[in-house]
Amino acid sequence: MSERIGTVQLIQKMNRVLVLDRLRAGGEMSRAELSAETGMSLASITNIVKYLAECGYVREVGTVATSKAGRRTELLAFNQTAGELAVVHVEANEVYFARCDLLGSILEQGCMPTLVAQSGAVMETVRQVLSKIVNERTLGVGVAISGHVDNRGAVSSVQLNWDGYPVREKLLAEGFPNVFVVNNSRSKAMGLSEPIVDGVFLDLSDGLGLVRFLGGRVDEGVSGELGHTTVMKDGPLCACGNYGCLEKVVSPGYLQKQFGGNLERMLEAYENGERVPALVEAAEYLGIGLANVISLFEPPCIVINPNCMTKKDRFYHSVLEYAQRRLGRLSLRRVMYLRSEVTHEAALAGLARHVADGIFGVDGNVV
Ligand SMILES: [Zn+2]
Repeated sequence: MSERIGTVQLIQKMNRVLVLDRLRAGGEMSRAELSAETGMSLASITNIVKYLAECGYVREVGTVATSKAGRRTELLAFNQTAGELAVVHVEANEVYFARCDLLGSILEQGCMPTLVAQSGAVMETVRQVLSKIVNERTLGVGVAISGHVDNRGAVSSVQLNWDGYPVREKLLAEGFPNVFVVNNSRSKAMGLSEPIVDGVFLDLSDGLGLVRFLGGRVDEGVSGELGHTTVMKDGPLCACGNYGCLEKVVSPGYLQKQFGGNLERMLEAYENGERVPALVEAAEYLGIGLANVISLFEPPCIVINPNCMTKKDRFYHSVLEYAQRRLGRLSLRRVMYLRSEVTHEAALAGLARHVADGIFGVDGNVV
């Protein structure tokens, strides 16, 4: 019996989610249009809209004429101001944060340096930032952080020395509502202006992250740490405790230390056609990383979120050339490369939309 009731409630919820999805996708719609698009009866739509309007998530935004006789029908829209979302993006040295409306538009944003680059301090910084931006109107919280995030929101990160650290659980225990934790390259991928359908998003902006998309969705099975694969036996010590990680040997900090000189000037010289050993080597290693990604996934396209080096045209094209050279006969299939810079703002907005999808989804607890 209780199972039956549960099923009915679930169907009702799914119907509410369906209506809300249409309205959240944008635009103003009448009840008749919602009925036509969802396949639900006008009576059901009327009930659902009444419920959602009482919750505050749907509002009437005007009327439109439906016949020559002058009959008018009400237009409905999603009320993006019915609550707020709080999102934080944890980078190596700072935490970016924003308060957003329910469609992910940023209301307020800022940045705070991470207290110290160690695991406890990172969590403390997140806590402090959230305490500032979460208020009684906040419906959901998003945290993007480097490392592998499991489906319970626990983070494993070689860099932070976390092995299944329960970020989500800890934040929920402190009273923050509806906490979603994602990998920070993934949240940048969600901030892309053109979403990837099939391909790989390579995030070079802070370390080296990889997100694979299949059929317009993130491939959850691929979530390793490409940046911490060894490419140089007995190479330099990486923050993860290993030696010769790809991320380390192509990092601006290492290159400056190893080869001396100012990276900005080195890049300028390279762009002017000079042979700069540090950058030749970095391009070669990045090319190796790229070739490995192509060998593993054979993606039709690779979208690269560049760092200060790959933003420069000559260096970027050198990386692609080295990758193609490494692939040799394997590169029978042409890969389409695209550079697309994801700003912190775009990443925060992408994360907010992810949180909104979660709280307004079937598994959410908002409607
Ligand atoms: Zn490493």
